[in-house]
Amino acid sequence: MATRTKREKPAAAPESPRAQRFVYAPAPESADHVRRLERYDLFVDGKFRPASSGKRFATVNPATEETLAEVAEAGAKDVELAVQSARKAYEKTWSKLSGAERGRYLFRIARLIQEQSRELAILETQDGGKPIVESRDVDLPLVAAHFFYYAGWADKLEHAFPGRRVRSLGVAAQVIPWNFPLLMAAWKIAPALAAGNTVVLKPAETTPLTALHLARICQEAELPPGVVNVLPGAGETGAALVAHKDVNKVAFTGSTEVGKQIQRAIAGSSKRLTLELGGKAANILLEDAPLDQAIEGIVNGIYFNQGHVCCAGSRLLVHESILEEVQRRLERRVKTLRVGDPLDKNTDIGAINSKPQLEKIRALVQSGVDEGAVLHQPACELPRAGYWHPPAFFSGVTTSHRIAQEEIFGPVLAILSFRTEAEAIAKANNTTYGLSAGIWTRKGSKVFEMASKLRAGVVWANTYNRFDPASPFGGMKESGFGREGGLHGLAPYVEVLS
Ligand code: NAP
Ligand code: MG
Repeated sequence: MATRTKREKPAAAPESPRAQRFVYAPAPESADHVRRLERYDLFVDGKFRPASSGKRFATVNPATEETLAEVAEAGAKDVELAVQSARKAYEKTWSKLSGAERGRYLFRIARLIQEQSRELAILETQDGGKPIVESRDVDLPLVAAHFFYYAGWADKLEHAFPGRRVRSLGVAAQVIPWNFPLLMAAWKIAPALAAGNTVVLKPAETTPLTALHLARICQEAELPPGVVNVLPGAGETGAALVAHKDVNKVAFTGSTEVGKQIQRAIAGSSKRLTLELGGKAANILLEDAPLDQAIEGIVNGIYFNQGHVCCAGSRLLVHESILEEVQRRLERRVKTLRVGDPLDKNTDIGAINSKPQLEKIRALVQSGVDEGAVLHQPACELPRAGYWHPPAFFSGVTTSHRIAQEEIFGPVLAILSFRTEAEAIAKANNTTYGLSAGIWTRKGSKVFEMASKLRAGVVWANTYNRFDPASPFGGMKESGFGREGGLHGLAPYVEVLS
């Protein structure tokens, strides 16, 4: 049986005049000035030290498969030392400082991040595979902005919680994923410190480098030892950290599966918990959607950061009257996306973060084909080494398809159609997740009406994937609970006394 795919033949050879119009000269970002080490240690009590076991693991560049550095792997003993150091720093130093003094340290960290942002962006791209234009122009400015934003709140907690007395919680265990390594570290560390807590952070195994450079920035900012500790390692390191008895607060961003494990592991304890988990967002195009902007929004919604975005607009719900037109325009636009060297400033789609992630994407794409959806995938030459997936979308998807239900976490969009707004809402909400959604229409009143019916923590209107430190972000249903960003992001780090 012929598979219903629309994979194209490779584009015309570069010498054809038509193809030449689209050939860009390479524009690689220079990585010469990056102070990357061959070996990285754990950051505990203000100092870098090897793992107690002496174990190390390699972190690789997913665009080349080259080892970037050997990184110390924290075990249970290191978790013990890091939590002890965070406890000591909390009791002896950090909780005794005034809000203004805590804010001063956070402002200092924010400024150092800005000064070193070019270097941090390159490291982020090398370690994780995302295009340099994203790490440089999106991630790093947001990282600095989060530290600036929460630095501003540190001495104004009485205004953040008017009429209430609040107190910090103590030691926060924070576990983060690989899709926005430094940004997730900022989302976690900045509000925790502003509210007066100390931190032990476990970055993801495939992207530990920028968190360790942030540790160096904490040293440069002369942050008191133990206020921030960084423990690279595997899932077991994270499990040992969240289970540690002297931890008061657990903040986790990652998969729903691990989120549930953590919930079970700390059930019955007095630990506070926030979970930022997976998503399967619906991006809804109503009949009157402004199509030029919408196509760009759809592309940004699903192909940004290779679709490694929890809130990615991975399901596109289109009114049936404009379905054909939208598919035609999308097909044309997707062909122009450039896949390749993430350090090249012309690259739109970089490397998939790891081999297991690429295999997961491929398996789900195959399931879509097997279940009868039509795959649209432009031909593009992919580099030989590294992990790559071309941008793709499926038409003819129904809600029962796996690609309409499961998180692909790659550059693959599933298109469904609807006839009435009630049907669009029902389809959008027909998922176990509830992180985000998008609405495209010229009518403001429709936006408010539909947003109130969507079971999603974040709803964008006529735009997609916009973030701001002042704006809370978080999910409903199996996308987790608690908010990060804004005033809401401070609340999980304080206890309200009266
Ligand atoms: P993951 O497997 O859940 O890993 C997340 C982090 O948890 C990593 O640091 C991981 O360590 C660690 N970990 C693994 N098992 C653990 C355990 N039993 N106890 C404690 N920690 C453990 O997620 P992922 O595949 O790396 O990340 C992708 C997922 O994150 C997607 O589902 C995405 O939607 C979600 N995400 C959500 C948000 C949000 O804000 N809602 C943001 C970004 C990503 P290792 O790296 O060593 O495995
Ligand atoms: Mg890596």
